[in-house]
Amino acid sequence: MRSFLLLLLFVITKIAFGQNLLLQNTQIIDPAAQKIHRGAILIRDGKIAQILTVVPKGFKGEQVDLAGKWVIPGLNDMHVHSFGNVAPGNNMQLLMTPGAAKMMLYCGVTGFLDLFSLESQIFADREQQRKSGALGADIYCAGPIFTCTGGHGTEYGIPTRVINSPAEAEREIAELALKKPDVVKIVYDHAAAQYFPTIDQATMTAAIQAAAKLGIKTVVHIGTWQDAKEAILAGASAITHLYREEIPDEVVALFKQKNVYSIPTMTVVTELAQIKQNPALLDNALLAAVTTPALLKAFRDTAAYDARTNAWLNRQRDRQAVFYKSVKKLADGGVKIMTGTDCGNLGTFQGFSLHREMQIMVEAGLSPWQALAAATTTPGEFFGQPFGVKIGSVANLVVLNASPLENIGNTQNIATVIHRGKVITREHLLKPPSHPWTQALLDDFSKTDMTSAFGIQWDRNLDAGFGGKSTLQHEYRDGTLRAWGKLQPAPNAPGLAGFSLDCDKKETPFDVSAFFGIRLRIKSASGPLFLKLITVGVTNYDYHATLISNSADFQELKIPFAQFKQFWSAPAAWTGKDVRGVALWVSGFQPADFEFVIDQIEFY
Ligand SMILES: [Zn+2]
Repeated sequence: MRSFLLLLLFVITKIAFGQNLLLQNTQIIDPAAQKIHRGAILIRDGKIAQILTVVPKGFKGEQVDLAGKWVIPGLNDMHVHSFGNVAPGNNMQLLMTPGAAKMMLYCGVTGFLDLFSLESQIFADREQQRKSGALGADIYCAGPIFTCTGGHGTEYGIPTRVINSPAEAEREIAELALKKPDVVKIVYDHAAAQYFPTIDQATMTAAIQAAAKLGIKTVVHIGTWQDAKEAILAGASAITHLYREEIPDEVVALFKQKNVYSIPTMTVVTELAQIKQNPALLDNALLAAVTTPALLKAFRDTAAYDARTNAWLNRQRDRQAVFYKSVKKLADGGVKIMTGTDCGNLGTFQGFSLHREMQIMVEAGLSPWQALAAATTTPGEFFGQPFGVKIGSVANLVVLNASPLENIGNTQNIATVIHRGKVITREHLLKPPSHPWTQALLDDFSKTDMTSAFGIQWDRNLDAGFGGKSTLQHEYRDGTLRAWGKLQPAPNAPGLAGFSLDCDKKETPFDVSAFFGIRLRIKSASGPLFLKLITVGVTNYDYHATLISNSADFQELKIPFAQFKQFWSAPAAWTGKDVRGVALWVSGFQPADFEFVIDQIEFY
């Protein structure tokens, strides 16, 4: 018995620790040391185990010959809003955080810091990724943004945390700390005073100190250089954004003296003007891969830009020289700079823009070495984790076809991405492989705990994240699920209440082309109820759907896939090969009472 256990232990150990990967014959760039090492990297258990000049004799494991290639540490975007991309004219590419994480990893961005998303969603996404090891750039996040009543951050219609006094700051930060945010994000901005009030200095100071006491780093969004100075003196870990005036020498010195990081966010304050001036920036294969033609078309159509967009890009054009000067002064002053695109804003793109951020830094006068460090080893240092090519670093690496030291634009010329020690099949990030679906019955509602016929849980969905106040109640009765509530949308936003079944939590879509449609036994007593087919191909939530007509009694419906339609956007072809699940959503722009009872749902 004992020897059997030992044998078992041995086998398990071999499986768990036996995964060796040797990258040989390559040129390894260490941005922290500003050194190039020629040789091989041995990766074991997802970490860099050895850096060698010659291949060890008798090496067993996967070997990759990288002759002529360049290896850099994985890239990091330290200022993102990971819901997706926006373009002029309300065009949007909604990715949501797990989707954005995939686009980023495709671009060689192996980690990102989300500095404001819906709190209830972003922490759940981060935990889900850490638990399941789901494919995508590593999620780090702040959760909400700390701001005052009516302050910057309250205008987006998603809930955030409001603090108007030191006592409120302490209480709210202690509460958020339970969710283990990677940083606390605070808005302290007197530059936008004519549009938004800001927290006072005492509240800002209390917030920084409350976070520090709990061992959490702070990132402060500033307006003016005076804001930066006061935040640094209060103990901020990092300052994000630049002011429209050149940074004073004394502020540079203060950054350096207090060892405070700068996340200048060059892309968000310059790129829209650059796109207008040089539309060829949009003709980029990497950008095309991670966006949609409709999104890029909205940027190309400069004549259709609205007044607000034009005003913004004119301001960018006028201020670019000053922004360049300030970031160069920060670098020359020895301040630790980190790349952050502020993607999610106009003119920035999840994943792709990180490459532009480095290019813009080099245009501003930083060396390619400095730009690379800002994207790799400095973020690692900030998080207290080795993000480099040192022994013990997590093996997040980007293999390039050409040297980024010769031309920083070569970071876009990606041969391979290695994430947590594994070579990533990058195409799968854009188009996950699909598997056939054979189970006809999705649910007959005989279980009473939201578990479907094949064990996956139904999710309850509401519109709180979009500012809605819809309600949803449910009960199981005699093998049916009854749901009722009120649809209460936010102004100019659709309300939503209902259930969805994400059939494969492992994130691989499935193929239902062996089936003809969906059969259900349902009674929609009141309210606009839609049955939706959730697919990977639809990225804007306008899923293929059908309206279930209201009736006093149960109806047996057989709805062919061909009858499901998109309602408000350019159609994405229904293929049946990239299905994620189904949803029963009451949805619309008008308030309404609703009630429906479902007895059975299946593919036929
Ligand atoms: Zn931001």
